[in-house]
Amino acid sequence: MSTDNLISGIHLDLEKTFGAMFECVIILRPDRRILFVNRAAEQLFGYSLSELIGKTGEPLYANPEDFAAAGKIHEEAAHNRDGQKFVMQFKNKQGRIFHVETITTPLFDATSRHVGYMLMGRDITYRRKLEAMVENSLQTLEDAIETISEAFALYDNEDKLVTCNENYRKTYPNSAPAMVRGTSFEDILRFGLDNGQYHLGSGTKEDWLEERLRWHRKASGEVIEQRLGDGRWLRVSERKTRTGGTAGIRTDITELKESQHKLAAVYENIKLVTNSLACSIVEVDRDGICLFINEHGAAWHGCQPSALIGTCLRDRYPDQDRSLDETCCKEALNGATLRREISHKLSDGSIRDLEIDFTPKRDASGDIIGVIVFSKDISGRKRVERTLAELYQVTSTRDLSSDEKVNHILKIGCDYYNLPLGVISHIEGESYCVKWVECPSGEIEPGLTLPLGETYCSHTLRATGPLAIAHAAESEISGHPCYERFSLEAYIGAPILVDGVRFGTICFTSHTPRPEEFTQTDKEIIRQFSDWIGTEIARQRDHKALLDAQIRLERIASIDDLTAALNRRAFLERAETEVSRFRRTGKPFSVVVLDIDHFKQINDTFGHSTGDEVLRRFSSILIRELRAVDVLGRIGGEEFCIILNDTGPDDALRVCDRLRGAVTEACRMEGMEWDVTCSMGIMSASLSDLDFGSLMKRADTALYEAKHNGRNQCVVYSPVREVKTAHN
Ligand code: GH3
Ligand code: MG
Ligand code: MG
Repeated sequence: MSTDNLISGIHLDLEKTFGAMFECVIILRPDRRILFVNRAAEQLFGYSLSELIGKTGEPLYANPEDFAAAGKIHEEAAHNRDGQKFVMQFKNKQGRIFHVETITTPLFDATSRHVGYMLMGRDITYRRKLEAMVENSLQTLEDAIETISEAFALYDNEDKLVTCNENYRKTYPNSAPAMVRGTSFEDILRFGLDNGQYHLGSGTKEDWLEERLRWHRKASGEVIEQRLGDGRWLRVSERKTRTGGTAGIRTDITELKESQHKLAAVYENIKLVTNSLACSIVEVDRDGICLFINEHGAAWHGCQPSALIGTCLRDRYPDQDRSLDETCCKEALNGATLRREISHKLSDGSIRDLEIDFTPKRDASGDIIGVIVFSKDISGRKRVERTLAELYQVTSTRDLSSDEKVNHILKIGCDYYNLPLGVISHIEGESYCVKWVECPSGEIEPGLTLPLGETYCSHTLRATGPLAIAHAAESEISGHPCYERFSLEAYIGAPILVDGVRFGTICFTSHTPRPEEFTQTDKEIIRQFSDWIGTEIARQRDHKALLDAQIRLERIASIDDLTAALNRRAFLERAETEVSRFRRTGKPFSVVVLDIDHFKQINDTFGHSTGDEVLRRFSSILIRELRAVDVLGRIGGEEFCIILNDTGPDDALRVCDRLRGAVTEACRMEGMEWDVTCSMGIMSASLSDLDFGSLMKRADTALYEAKHNGRNQCVVYSPVREVKTAHN
């Protein structure tokens, strides 16, 4: 069947099928004569059907050579038995030229014979114009984005790259080869990832990619920071465009980041320093509002710095401290730098000595904008100062005995260390003896003796310096016998040396552990204590030696060598004391002068040494017979004097008679045919006449009378007889 037949047969059907279509449909015979034209084609080209049917389409081509070119395309399509697409310029009857996008499809009958072409075309002039406009705008955009200093990229609603500037390529040099228009954002990322463009951190590439895409899809304008493989940092800001695309800007913030890191490091260092200082650092503004406080300072208030910043710290102080703070801050705001020492109650109730520096804080132009208040806890130093002052006071006073001083020092030590027990020991060999002790419970008393090995002091003696244990249970000496026996937890002790020789130890201790470790200062203090105790013990020893020597000297100076009676000088001194006592008390005393009878004869007969022996026996028996309150003195060769205290004349006579008998008994010597006797004159004191010299003189008068009356007798002085004698 010929094409004509075929066509006429189906013409109506073609009309039905293609008549109302928006696209132009033209059917050609193999010789390119027009067989069918639908209405759209009719209108586009402006020719009536009769002007077209049966003619070639040559007049429709804007460029005559395109007719032949199109013929070639048809043939190729027929040859390949496949459709071909081409765009060419056509013109309508009125001469208007337009672009038509055409698809030519070869037609075959049932026997595969080529029977013509079906052309389907669309006027794309308007689209072309639009495309040109878009291209134009894109050009403008590209020009514009080249002028900005940031990296810029625009992705369309399918997330394909529309355009980016040169900075974008330079920012991501490893990804740049993939930055071709139409490449998806994800593919560019993947390319970059494979080429080490990004710093992945600890995650995998896929993790990184997922996170990055999440932000990219969000594109909320929020800024993220991105680290690149070469160490650079970018700030990325992405936003959705109105057409669903994504516009992103990258700014290189490497320098900013480095500065930030340096600043953060500096800040961390400052924080570390301020927080590691055991002092309070506060910055307040001109109104006294806290702008900064370190952790230590905040802890004094019992809270964290954040709770105090923005508040007025002064309001937390007691009245007295508040006004001091106010005054000092005011002066500092006027440019002064001040230092004050105060006692301050902290939030935990403890009272601390603080040293506070107020320093004006100035801004860059030198204006004072606030005050830096730097407070140091000097309680420890103050405590040491007080302790040393007390130690000095106690050791230098003359009002306390040596024992009182030592006991005082133990108390000072207990206060200083805040430990209840203080012990000074004397160690001899392996024996530890408590000499002085401060022990409120009374469990340890002076005289308590222990084997040295059972005391911590055995360690103290071995150690070169003081031994200090804050918590024995947790120390290496937890199994020590002393711990087993007394369960002493805290201990500080030092050896005591007296004149360079080990004497014992001083220690302070308690049953409870000490919350803080002992400091070097604590060890220095106990060394001071032990030094002083050592010196005091040495001083005590010297003092005792001096006293002994003095006593010996006094004895030598006042005691008669031969008879052990007081010598004349000492006796007369003592006599004055007795006279004073009599004046005070009115208690009677008697003076007796004694002389051995015919002593010369003893010397002459038996020799001087026998005479000495008699003198010794004579004195010795008197000393034995007399009471402790009586006084015996040798006042001449073989002449003695006795003061009989609390004794009137009658009693004195009785005593003297007894003595006389005792003397004779004691002085009896072998080969001596006569008894040794003595004569005594007695004179009792009276308030009316109280001169010892005259008392003695009168006793001597009575003695003279006794001698005169035949010796070996006692005579009480009688004034009448004296007068009588005087008259004789
Ligand atoms: P009368 O009974 O009168 O006292 O006789 P008398 O011999 O004791 O006399 P007088 O007092 O004159 O003699 C004392 C003598 O004692 C003289 C002196 O040599 C002697 N004499 C003095 N001191 C000592 C002494 O220390 N030892 C000895 N052996 N004789 C002494
Ligand atoms: Mg005599
Ligand atoms: Mg004599």
